[in-house]
Amino acid sequence: MSLTLTVDGERWRAHLLATVARHPGIVPVAKGNGYGMSVGRLARRAQWLADHAAETGTDVDLLAVGTYDEVEEAASRYAGDLLVLTPWRPFGAALELDDRTARRVVHTVSRPEDLAALRGRHPDARFVLEQLTSMLRHGMTRRDLAAVAEALGPGRGGLGGVAMHLPLNTTSHLGEVSRLVNDVVASGLPTRTVFVSHLTHAELAQLAAAYPDFTVRPRIGTDLWLGDRGALRATATVLDVHEVERGDTFGYRGRTVPKPGHIVVVSGGTAHGIGLEAPTGDQSLKARAATLARGGLDAVGFVRSPFSIDGKQRLFAEPPHMQASMLFVPSGARVPSVGEEIDVRVRFTATDFDRVVVA
Ligand SMILES: *Cc1c(COP(=O)(O)O)cnc(C)c1O
Repeated sequence: MSLTLTVDGERWRAHLLATVARHPGIVPVAKGNGYGMSVGRLARRAQWLADHAAETGTDVDLLAVGTYDEVEEAASRYAGDLLVLTPWRPFGAALELDDRTARRVVHTVSRPEDLAALRGRHPDARFVLEQLTSMLRHGMTRRDLAAVAEALGPGRGGLGGVAMHLPLNTTSHLGEVSRLVNDVVASGLPTRTVFVSHLTHAELAQLAAAYPDFTVRPRIGTDLWLGDRGALRATATVLDVHEVERGDTFGYRGRTVPKPGHIVVVSGGTAHGIGLEAPTGDQSLKARAATLARGGLDAVGFVRSPFSIDGKQRLFAEPPHMQASMLFVPSGARVPSVGEEIDVRVRFTATDFDRVVVA
């Protein structure tokens, strides 16, 4: 009935422990759809990682969430501190935390005026200062840092470090990171802790060697939770099968079947994040030709789906529905039976599973 994520628990847990052991100071990231597993489940798992600190040699004392709206869900399942990755602003969910939870939060501050506003409201607030990187998302310039250093004075006043969010897949981040770390030193800020994202293991080692007086804390989501893909399997359930002849009509749009085969109805649709890239039914010929050229459309106008049967990727008979999808299986291929589980290729960060089974 469901779109299911099945996790090989033993293998997954072994990967989590190994990843944490390899990254001293790691800050696990649990945000959004929880990388397909929910923020709550990941927060509970982060607590489990904290409980296994003796085994990994790494204390997991800080968990990152994406937004202030995610803080409560994580806070009720994880006992340590919570770093909010979205910068604090003087409005919205950031102002709605209850006092008890707020004491466990480490804020990200990306504008000097926000630091003044945050400390005006909560003099004891703990925070990291985000530096502007080549991403140009959020962050302070070196001039901003210097201004903040002056405003803070010699006392740390809740300052827990600086943070830099780096782009993915550039050849090397080290030049940019070095420049940013030098900005911290030049600013006179009384901190030697740097939170980084998206550095490779080798880059982290080089950074630690280059700046021995700095503590580098990697914020890691994907490589932690989804780093061992072999431990994860996404499946859909076959809900119905209909034999069809050429010319039979089917679907919301009353299309006709171009050749004999079977319509196979499976769980998983737009509500789960399935197949949003699928072209709509009334595509122009030109758009169809373009899709065909990219290999997404077969000769009779069906679009490739992420579902596969016996290792063969199958075509959507029509665009996915809210919670189910209709596939076309041409005659000659094995027809799956109702109740059978079939594989579905998904982007975990964009998929809402009905169930997550940790086996
Ligand atoms: C999401 C996020 C991360 C984690 O990214 P992954 O690619 O999932 O490891 C790290 N830092 C920041 C600021 C983020 O928003």
